[in-house]
Amino acid sequence: MALKQFKAESKRLLDLMINSIYTNKEIFLREIISNASDAIDKLHFISLTDSAAARDFEIRIDADKNARTLTVTDNGIGMTAAELESNLGTIAKSGTLDFKQKNAKSDEKDSLIGQFGVGFYSCFMVADEVTVISRKYGEDAANKWTSKGVSGYTVTAAERETSGTTVILSLKADDDVKYSEYLEEYTLRRLIKHYSDYIRYPIVMQVEKTVPKKEGEGNDIEVSIETLNSMVPIWKRKKNEVKKEEYESFYADKFSDYNPPARVMTASIEGAVNYNCLLFIPSEPPYDYFTKAYKRGLQLYSSGVLIMDNCEKLLPDYLGFVRGVVDSADLSLNISREMLQHDRQLSEIAKSLEKKILSELGKWLKEDREAYEKFFGKFGMTLKFGAYESFGTKLPQLKDLFVYYSTEGKFVTLKEYVGGMKEDQKDIYYAAGSDVATLRSLPQVTAVTAKGYAVLLMTDNVDEFVVKLMDKYDEKTLRSVSSDKLDIETEEEKKANKEKADSSKTLLDEVKTALGTNVTEVRLSNMLGEYPSGLTAKGELSIEMAKVLSAMPGNEKIRAQYVLELNPAHPMFALAEKLLAEDKTKFGRLCVLLYTEAMLTVGINPENPSEFVKLINEFVS
Ligand code: ADP
Repeated sequence: MALKQFKAESKRLLDLMINSIYTNKEIFLREIISNASDAIDKLHFISLTDSAAARDFEIRIDADKNARTLTVTDNGIGMTAAELESNLGTIAKSGTLDFKQKNAKSDEKDSLIGQFGVGFYSCFMVADEVTVISRKYGEDAANKWTSKGVSGYTVTAAERETSGTTVILSLKADDDVKYSEYLEEYTLRRLIKHYSDYIRYPIVMQVEKTVPKKEGEGNDIEVSIETLNSMVPIWKRKKNEVKKEEYESFYADKFSDYNPPARVMTASIEGAVNYNCLLFIPSEPPYDYFTKAYKRGLQLYSSGVLIMDNCEKLLPDYLGFVRGVVDSADLSLNISREMLQHDRQLSEIAKSLEKKILSELGKWLKEDREAYEKFFGKFGMTLKFGAYESFGTKLPQLKDLFVYYSTEGKFVTLKEYVGGMKEDQKDIYYAAGSDVATLRSLPQVTAVTAKGYAVLLMTDNVDEFVVKLMDKYDEKTLRSVSSDKLDIETEEEKKANKEKADSSKTLLDEVKTALGTNVTEVRLSNMLGEYPSGLTAKGELSIEMAKVLSAMPGNEKIRAQYVLELNPAHPMFALAEKLLAEDKTKFGRLCVLLYTEAMLTVGINPENPSEFVKLINEFVS
């Protein structure tokens, strides 16, 4: 029979496959096996109403090292001569154009092949001749399709006992790539396990086992047929039918994390998009979690066939710690569906997953507080970043998942905090800083707790930024204990303060003049306890926020507008008054001392430490 020509577009794709520089050539086996599985699906469907179509469905792999052929046989629906020609002579239509466009950029091409495959033609990446012998169910005749690549193909009559398809690949000669590797049992096992483990039909292969001889003299080679795939994906099984250990060993195998997961979540979603998922929250952040090297994303399967190892699109960044698999029959394995459509489906799944994960976290918080708090200690900051990066748009879903350490010695949610507020308490109080111990000893914190109010001690860099975005929880303002709007004094205290402030006006003005642009304002405070001075900020940017921002490259100059607070009850205050009257130069140095001390209490080092040391010595001697 005459050699027939491929359609122009098929030729291009074929050419691409033959000359593929793609490193992941091994996916050809996944493609051939997926086709076989689809063909069996079709006959299986017919068998539901036609018992003659029923049989023990299977996909068989044969590697013949002498002939250098790899053969994949299925007992599925098969193809007629016309189908062989139209199915294998033309690549499917809808994706063609899309593919051609992508094809223009070679780096995209690589990822395209890797992700969704290119179906049957991928076998030309490893074979220089491909033969397909097929017999359609319900027909007597079988046909053989053969091609050596772009030159074309032939279809001739052939023999086959029953319906189904046999694909015979004559592997290319070894060069830089060892194609003969695909004849090794070890490689085939690995590839099937990796890409096709959850194909619903058994993938069988004749394997050789070495067994010791009875008399203990040497070994015998035993040949047997083995099923290489596990068939039922663990995520398709009902959660109550899977043992905890099974999930744990699946997790350990798949994600190479030998700490058991802190939480396992499953879902089977039917609706606008359909998918099954099995998700894990690690008990410890992976060692590279906070670096760029960390690969976020979920494993993506299409009907049990692995499409992608780390599909980043499935998870928002702030849930990047979640690991697991998603399996959706809505995603076609083949490029013949438009990529755009995949994108839409993927983002639908991603949206649904995000909702699911957040509601699971909420459940976890209610069900197992201790474990949740542990989790939050490890990954809470990431969740907070989610709120921050979204400019607060994700706060409605996230704010009830946050727990904060409180001065009452336990973690509380904002809801719990509000629930426990004192009758006369107006706001939710917080203090932000680098660690709990420092925060606890802040005079402002002591002053607020002395009133019987709890203070949330926030120690993540991102905390105050999130607080600013949130502003209120349940109509209660989140108020920094360093804020000048703290307003926790009684009417009498306020009156006394006002009087004192009026009478100290000259002093405060002089301190401000002495410190120049270092401070925006100088005022009195009754909240400083045993400290003579304290530092807070005016305006939106708090001292802690300025610290975080100025630690970023290019932002070194960012600085909060400092407000120096002076404690009128402290002996140093009286000293200031005295020096102002007697020794203006020394008064100026005392101002610098008070200012530097105030900076130290909020964790800012003096610009000139030795000057500071001199100052201390001057005043203690
Ligand atoms: P896709 O599978 O995405 O359609 P392929 O290039 O892999 O694209 O295959 C083209 C077509 O060839 C398939 O749609 C199917 O109709 C047919 N085909 C391939 N392999 C088999 C097989 N083993 N049995 C029956 N039909 C097959």
